[in-house]
Amino acid sequence: MIERTLVILKPDAIQRGIIGEVITRFERAGLKIVGAKLVQPDYEHYHKHYEGIGQMISRRGQKAFEMVLDLMQKGPVLAMVLEGVEAIALVRKMVGTTEPKAAAPGTIRGDYAHISFAHADEKTVGVGNLVHASGDAQDAEKEIAHWFSEQELHEYPTVHEYFTQGKSK
Ligand code: ADP
Repeated sequence: MIERTLVILKPDAIQRGIIGEVITRFERAGLKIVGAKLVQPDYEHYHKHYEGIGQMISRRGQKAFEMVLDLMQKGPVLAMVLEGVEAIALVRKMVGTTEPKAAAPGTIRGDYAHISFAHADEKTVGVGNLVHASGDAQDAEKEIAHWFSEQELHEYPTVHEYFTQGKSK
């Protein structure tokens, strides 16, 4: 099934100058970028993203919620919509688990960071884990609508569709 998922390259990824490397991984896997923009949203936008949609406070607690909102407002982020076969689960797999210390080598978080929850809590900083990716189909739909207008999502052919979707050239 062809799905769309929201991916955000967070301020730490932008400020470390590695967004090209991260995007290359998604392109290499054959994911199609149907939307992309560099933006610096305000507190309300992130509040809706992480709590209104992501219900983060009940899952992770108030302190972690405030830390991630702080972290996200440290600078611009690259928001993208990626499309592909079961793209939501694929992108989550490529990104790796939330805590970089626990993220497997080969994943983006595992290859580019190693901070632990314990260290982040002790220093009262958010867990800089480079990438946000939608957790499931419901979240993906709401997150894409929250970050992108219809006009910002584009239609164009890719070679990957020829192989994965039986499209003719
Ligand atoms: P994910 O981004 O993997 O879907 P969550 O939605 O649970 O994870 O958390 C959102 C973000 O909040 C994480 O990506 C991370 O940057 C930050 N975060 C989560 N838990 C903590 C924590 N205990 N301390 C600091 N930051 C956290």
